[in-house]
Amino acid sequence: MSELRRDPILGRWVIISSDRAGRPLDFRPARETWTGGGFCPFCAGNEYTTPSELLAYRPDGSPPDSPGWDLRVVPNKFPALRREGEPEQSGEILYQTMSGIGAHEVIIEAPGHDQTLASLPADSVERVLKAYASRLLDLKKDPRLEYVIVFKNHGPSAGATLEHTHSQLIALPIVPTRVLAEMEGALSHRQSTGECIFCDIIHRELRHGARIVADNEHFTVLCPFASPYAFETWILPKKHTPRFESSAEHFPALAAILSDLLRRINAVLGKPDYNFVIHTAPLHENNVDHYHWHLELIPKLNRVAGFEWGSSFFINPTPPEEAASFLREAGQEG
Ligand SMILES: [Zn+2]
Ligand SMILES: [Zn+2]
Ligand SMILES: [Zn+2]
Repeated sequence: MSELRRDPILGRWVIISSDRAGRPLDFRPARETWTGGGFCPFCAGNEYTTPSELLAYRPDGSPPDSPGWDLRVVPNKFPALRREGEPEQSGEILYQTMSGIGAHEVIIEAPGHDQTLASLPADSVERVLKAYASRLLDLKKDPRLEYVIVFKNHGPSAGATLEHTHSQLIALPIVPTRVLAEMEGALSHRQSTGECIFCDIIHRELRHGARIVADNEHFTVLCPFASPYAFETWILPKKHTPRFESSAEHFPALAAILSDLLRRINAVLGKPDYNFVIHTAPLHENNVDHYHWHLELIPKLNRVAGFEWGSSFFINPTPPEEAASFLREAGQEG
């Protein structure tokens, strides 16, 4: 069982995972390429090697945990957090802990091993977004869970341990401090101006143009003004919406612009490893109208080194205006 521990100085929480018990040899310098070949538990035909599926899209009506699917969601075989148990919190003031209740799931985005999210057709990408929303809504029924973070690690240097295209979600019994900080920033802007800070940013960027990468009827893609990472890019819904799962009617437009962005990044940066994360309002918080969901993406280009680690202060070697200009003018590679 994992345990959540609160940093007594900074207030942030850490998952101390005993299930994944890392021994010294597990931390040998990471190989930056796939070991390749070998058996893939996510390939069609190998369903018996994963935990039983939680959700699958099966156009042929085939039975669970068999081939015939377009997308599957399964529990992570080596979960950081588990569903079982009660959310017990220690009463200690200095060292607060909480039992490691949560969920850790894998969204297997397509049955074929050679596909990537950037190469999938638009309707398959839309299916991936639908699966995220569907799992969010299902996990929301569990009152013990406060937040679901949906993310993708693409490539070994982005932290993916399997090559087969997939994303993940981790449901948490607390709201992560990063999201709380965004919500506090948005709330203070709302209180001083009456406006949503994300809506204000979208309007300003669209007027200005220099940091816009792409744009369609429902979404804007931009390189944020003060992004810590080179080529960091955000996708924001144009209509003010606090929750990702409330944007379902616009998932076709989101799928189109996400594919577009991934292909631009592939073309400009030579198919880099990348991470993306969806920031959405907490599951059970009602007062969230000042928040505006978005997707944040970083290609794995600069490494976090001593200065960044020690100061939470970043050096971005590519001005966001230049990154946006490269991405805007790029061709597209699947
Ligand atoms: Zn595979
Ligand atoms: Zn807004
Ligand atoms: Zn965010």
